[in-house]
Amino acid sequence: MLTLAVLRPALDDHSSPLPERFALDIGGELREPTRWADDIDPATADTLATVGSATPDEVDAAVAAARRAAPEWGASAPSHRGTLLRRLADLVRRDADVLARLETRDTGKPLTQGRADITAAARYFDFYGSVVEGFLGDSIPLGRGSLAVVEHEPHGVTGHVIPWNYPAQITARSVGAALAAGNATVVKPAEEAPLVALAYARLAREAGFPAGVLNVIPGGAEAGTALTAHPHVEHVSFTGSVATGRTVAAACASRGRPSLLELGGKSAHLVLEGADIDRAAPVITRALLLHAGQTCTAGTRVIVHRSLHHQLVSAIAPFFATATLGHGLTDPTVGPVVSEQQVKRVQGFLERALAAGAVVAAQATDADGLGGYFVAPVLFDEVAQDTELFAEEVFGPLLAVTTVDSDAEAVAAAHNSRYGLTAAVWCQDVDRALRTARSLDVGQTYINGYAPGGGVELPFGGTRDSGYGREKGVEALREYSRSRTLFIDIA
Ligand code: NAD
Repeated sequence: MLTLAVLRPALDDHSSPLPERFALDIGGELREPTRWADDIDPATADTLATVGSATPDEVDAAVAAARRAAPEWGASAPSHRGTLLRRLADLVRRDADVLARLETRDTGKPLTQGRADITAAARYFDFYGSVVEGFLGDSIPLGRGSLAVVEHEPHGVTGHVIPWNYPAQITARSVGAALAAGNATVVKPAEEAPLVALAYARLAREAGFPAGVLNVIPGGAEAGTALTAHPHVEHVSFTGSVATGRTVAAACASRGRPSLLELGGKSAHLVLEGADIDRAAPVITRALLLHAGQTCTAGTRVIVHRSLHHQLVSAIAPFFATATLGHGLTDPTVGPVVSEQQVKRVQGFLERALAAGAVVAAQATDADGLGGYFVAPVLFDEVAQDTELFAEEVFGPLLAVTTVDSDAEAVAAAHNSRYGLTAAVWCQDVDRALRTARSLDVGQTYINGYAPGGGVELPFGGTRDSGYGREKGVEALREYSRSRTLFIDIA
């Protein structure tokens, strides 16, 4: 793959595999891997591309390359790093069409969503390229006899483990902040969807980033284990499931290095008395159907006051009943889920929800004849709060509605899950909405709106089983830095 443009014709329809094999990107060059893996197009279940799958030795080579690059990169002026990041943002925008199609074919999401992800990715590179220049240190007043200064220092080599659902955005947000802060990075995308992260490495080369500051090595659990346990990786950012996140955190803790965990969610919409249902219904629908429910911040539960229950379900149901399923490039409402395993997982939730007494209020037409990994969205009503569907992350297009009689009950229901990523409160009475929002134990709360993922500038991360640490916003620059205190005794 010399330029991304050469991929364009093969990206146009789901029956074409990509013509090239995607090698590892280590030390500023492509490196032929010792083994290859098939990257599957979830819309067809056929091979989309052949991609390198890093071995522990290749992980080691990537970390060594980052280590060589780290001192000079970390010592460079923030304005220099910012200029390169903003140049990278320009190149992402230049190639946005190819990148959006790559992301769509790799993840299965509708093309409009693939395009939105690439727009957001460019924004991350721009944002961190800009704010790093104003990322000021501090001086601490201790009297005329001394000068105390606190500077931001990069960690050195940072490791980034990326999931398959939003690789374009998650790579950009995490790597953008880490590079801006002066770290040299090693990125391990998931084997299911590694293509856009590999494309970023090529664009970074074109932008003029020094060799070794952005290494991209797709692979599976073996590569992830090698990266997160590596003695020269000074900080690990992990986005993925709770179980893997805990393994990663333990690996980091055992060698005394910090980790950041962005894990799952079971985000709730609290629809209080006085909510504007016409405003809420389309947003609630979208917050679930986005990428077939495979969004960490998917709004998967609706907790509605009894007085609005019928009106709300009636307003949401038509969106579900008319949702179209199809291949991402045809831009349906909902694309496929990522794999056959994921189809089975969602179907298991569905069957158990029915057995537990949930009622189907609306359902999209089945995706018969499409091939690939499709699950029709289902709106479940009368979901009991002590059931699995109400408390556990499905990662598929199932929405659970339950009814409450007070704001306090709504908050208690929202807390009836081990996750604490995001939530939304719908109510036109701002005092009441704010009171409720502040009582929720989650990382981000929206009032009268919902933006899954939350926006480039807003600090993002969870509480409880949703993880710790914060990506996005200026806060991520703090995450990818450590402070150095200098004290000068003035004679
Ligand atoms: P996963 O934990 O299976 O995989 C995530 C990444 O970890 C992949 O790159 C995978 O190859 C790697 N990995 C697997 N085993 C590893 C190991 N032992 N050591 C190190 N790395 C390893 O998660 P998934 O199924 O790909 O992603 C879905 C989950 O991610 C959901 O729970 C979702 O909510 C969560 N997620 C969270 C956010 C967020 O920002 N909070 C964003 C997207 C997804």
